[in-house]
Order: sequence, then structure tokens, then C-alpha cells
Amino acid sequence: MNKGKKLYEGKAKIIYETNEKDLVIQHFKDDATAFNNLKKASVEGKGVLNNRISEHILTSLSQCGIKTHLIKRLNMREQLIKHAEIIPIEFIVRNIATGSLSKRLGIADGTILEKPLFEYCYKKDELGDPLIAKEHIFAFDWAKEEEINEIDKMTFRINDLLQGIFRGVGIKLVDFKLEYGRVWNKEKNKSEIVLADEISPDTCRLWDVKSEKKLDKDRFRKDLGNIVQAYQEVARRLGIMPEETNISEVNFGKATSLKFKKKK
Ligand code: 5GP
Repeated sequence: MNKGKKLYEGKAKIIYETNEKDLVIQHFKDDATAFNNLKKASVEGKGVLNNRISEHILTSLSQCGIKTHLIKRLNMREQLIKHAEIIPIEFIVRNIATGSLSKRLGIADGTILEKPLFEYCYKKDELGDPLIAKEHIFAFDWAKEEEINEIDKMTFRINDLLQGIFRGVGIKLVDFKLEYGRVWNKEKNKSEIVLADEISPDTCRLWDVKSEKKLDKDRFRKDLGNIVQAYQEVARRLGIMPEETNISEVNFGKATSLKFKKKK
């Protein structure tokens, strides 16, 4: 698989073309951004960890019947993925109130929601990814009603599966963001919806079950420090860090040289 020219560069990832039209390479950068790009930094090792964590999660979801864009992880920073036409919507799921929900509506931080709350945001950096109603999606033809119905069902199932994956390792899945895209299914001769982008501590809020310690990007957003250690902790609990790694001893600068466990 040959890596071709850069097709797109986002805040945390770069997409490269390959010699196959339907496949692209997704490269995970160490760049961290928050508050619509107002806060920026490079967090050494973050891209490597997100690549591995996202591979693990998308593979687990795919084993449960969720269609994803992931073909395989290629190396420490790159994945081979299907070239999807990304739907310009961020699909947010909340199990516990915090973040922009608490700020916007004055709901006490940490309030457990009776059922998952779905929100839709228009993916537009210039506008700060504004919250929208479902009706906006249809009014401006960002996706068809049947597509959103299918995505809602997939998102609901993904929330259940992710909650199980994280609960099993002592982590509460507070909220997260998903993206979906359309890919062409040659056998069925029609376009189909796949889960795209990544699922990682960059896109989820993850709290330790007992201490409620934040193990996600809020450590960067809120200047809590130890960002890479928190992401490593998530990887370690998911069983995808080397057993001998002692999180408290890991030097930030050496994070990229850590070897991941080989897949069985
Ligand atoms: P909030 O709306 O409270 O800021 O975010 C809700 C959830 O969606 C959080 O888990 C947050 O990480 C994720 N999220 C929302 N927007 C974005 C985004 O533009 N990029 C990333 N990486 N995550 C986002």
C-alpha cells in the first residue's frame, strides 16, 4: 500500500491518499486543540495512543456488528481506512451531564441522565460546531432522514457497547462524539453508512469509577496535567499497553517509543 499525497489535514489527524481509490491512510498527530482552536499544544505520544485505542475500540465494535471505516492499523501512527464521504454532523451522546450541556442549560455537573441524551452539532470550525436540531439536518440536506434513523440506532447500540467496554475496566463513559460517513458497497451496489473518525480519550469523557479522576482530553482543556499518563492509563486498562509499563514511571518524551502488545 503506497502512501500518496495529503488529502486533508484536520486538528488531530491527516488523511493521505493511497494507490487504491477507495482507501486512505489516517495519520494521528500529537497536536491537541480545544475551544475551537484557541488553545493548542503538542502532546508527545498522544497520536500513538489514540491510534491504538481507537483501533481497539473500533475492532471491538465491528466484532459486534457495527460497520466501521477501519481496515487495519498500519503502524504506530497510521491506519488504513475506507475513504468515506463524511456527514458534516457531530453526533454527541451524553450519559452524565457535564461540559457544554452543564454550561448551556445549568444542569449540575455529574448529574446522571435517566437515558442517553443525543445531540447534533454542525461540523463547521468557523462557526464553532454549533448545536443544531434534527430538522436542520434535513432542511439543509446534510443527510437523509433514513440515514439519520440508521445512525441513531447505531449510535444507541455503540453507547451500550462502549459503556460495557469501559465499565469492565473501571471507567465511566460520561459522553462522547461520533462521526459517520458514506462508503460505496460494491456487492450491494449502494452506499452504506459506516462509523468513521476515531473513538479515543480525545473524543470521549472518561472518568475513573471510584475517584472520578478524568482520563480524557479534559486534562488538556482544564490544564489538569498528566495528559499522556491518563491516555496510557486508559490503554493499560483496556489491556493494550505492555504489562511491565508502570504508568507513574513513564516519561512523557518516551511515550512514542513504547511498544504495543502484538495482536493475537
Ligand atoms: P461538549 O459538548 O460537552 O464540549 O462535548 C461533549 C463530548 O463530545 C465530549 O466527550 C467531547 O470530547 C466530544 N466532542 C465534542 N466536540 C468535539 C470536537 O470537536 N472534537 C473532539 N475531539 N471531541 C468533541
